[in-house]
Amino acid sequence: MRIETTAVHAGHATDPATGAVAPPIHLSTTFEREPDGSYRQGLVYGRTANPNRTQLETAVAALEGGGAAAAFASGSAAVYAIVQALDPGMHVVAPADCYHGTLKILRELFGRWNIATTFVDMCDHAAVESAMRPETRLLWVETPSNPLVRVFDIAHLAGLAHESGALCAVDNTWATPIATRPLALGADLVMHSSTKYFGGHSDVLGGIVVGRAEDDAFFSRIRTMQTAGGGVPSPFDCWLTLRGITTLPWRFRAQAANATQVADFLDGHRNVAAVHYPGLGSHPQHALARGQMAYPGAMMSIEVRGTGGDAMAAAGRMQLFTRATSLGGVESLVEHRASVEGPGTLAPPTLLRLSIGLEHHDDLIEDLDRALTGRG
Ligand SMILES: *Cc1c(COP(=O)(O)O)cnc(C)c1O
Repeated sequence: MRIETTAVHAGHATDPATGAVAPPIHLSTTFEREPDGSYRQGLVYGRTANPNRTQLETAVAALEGGGAAAAFASGSAAVYAIVQALDPGMHVVAPADCYHGTLKILRELFGRWNIATTFVDMCDHAAVESAMRPETRLLWVETPSNPLVRVFDIAHLAGLAHESGALCAVDNTWATPIATRPLALGADLVMHSSTKYFGGHSDVLGGIVVGRAEDDAFFSRIRTMQTAGGGVPSPFDCWLTLRGITTLPWRFRAQAANATQVADFLDGHRNVAAVHYPGLGSHPQHALARGQMAYPGAMMSIEVRGTGGDAMAAAGRMQLFTRATSLGGVESLVEHRASVEGPGTLAPPTLLRLSIGLEHHDDLIEDLDRALTGRG
């Protein structure tokens, strides 16, 4: 099956009880035993398994080409489960510019539990190699990166991880399986904030981890983090995310096409000092992106000419771009990243991050032009 068909059909089946074409939402937290003590469908209790969650996991595993998936209440809970599946004393190597929530989980939450992380520039493969220690068990990759939209070489990094006896996990939230399939490039685990492109409509939080097989030793630990730790998504969250997934391939491609138009326009704009978008020939990892990503994605950042105040003022004049954090929804968003991330941020003060939505690209371009040239 092609990915569009997988997105519509994986995890979906007509409800055997009613014939309903759209999946019913199963709110029940508990399931009846047969007189002999067995369970009709193997379902016992809502934390350990729920039909809507299983449908979502089936769909995402299929999209990523994995053998199993575990859904969580948020992307952060999914990150948390992966790190917590390590043992104390193990070591992690992660990108210095990883998602600030992931950075916080690794540095602040697990630092205290004796899981240390070394943060490196993942474009610098020699730096990654020298950061690997005998106790390194996990190489964390997130590509494209936030906020400079740099692209890291998953196949090469997975190879480095395996040479050191470590696992390679990829946060594939920004690329989605429509652009990049990390398992096929050698990664062992894929993680998503399904809050973003999977949900796609800025109305549901979620996270998911995909592994090669349910009985893989490390994936089994993650499953236990999910079912015993209990950071699970609600049935309605799973239902919304599964619905979002049906249109993911078309939304993502259209958003990437819009982003390409917007980036081409901004690239020549007199009030823009830099455009960070992997689809531009001037992007430092453009060649890598062309090989690793089927589409250059719909995330970009720009550096406005002038001061941080000028960047803030430009965002303030935008009318179609909503000033809000997050990404991957149908509406375009703009964010002054340095003020969201706070002290220690790698985002320059003049940087605005754009999540390109599904509006017409000419309307987006006109809005950006007005805002950047100081017209209200
Ligand atoms: C949003 C995001 C997360 C965190 O996910 P939540 O659903 O907000 O908890 C992790 N990684 C990336 C790349 C993200 O964009």
